[in-house]
Amino acid sequence: MNNKKLGKRNSDTKNSEKQSRTYPRPVWVPRVVSGEEELCPDCFKVVGERSRYNLVCMLGKSKDGLTVGQLTEKIKLRQPTVTHHLQVLNSVEAVSSEARGRERVYKLNRSAHCFEECKIPY
Ligand SMILES: [Zn+2]
Repeated sequence: MNNKKLGKRNSDTKNSEKQSRTYPRPVWVPRVVSGEEELCPDCFKVVGERSRYNLVCMLGKSKDGLTVGQLTEKIKLRQPTVTHHLQVLNSVEAVSSEARGRERVYKLNRSAHCFEECKIPY
């Protein structure tokens, strides 16, 4: 009479399918891991827009981080656009920021899932 575990699992399978949804790798992201054509949702947020990925590469090449002003000047986008991209990157912990004087300095979070596990190049 111990069959209460049966029949309860169906809804779980549906959930994990939803979480493992992947996105195709955009053409501007160099492929470093062979066969890695699909990106998880977090990584797609990081690289899904070309200029956002450009910001990642700029921060990746900088040792001490860059301010919003420096990034805006380099990438030639409007500052609110740059700020928006940085917020998205921050939301998946791809960047971290700290106050330096009156400015905010952004750094790439190199140990983030996207770079450590999914091997997004920068
Ligand atoms: Zn990923």
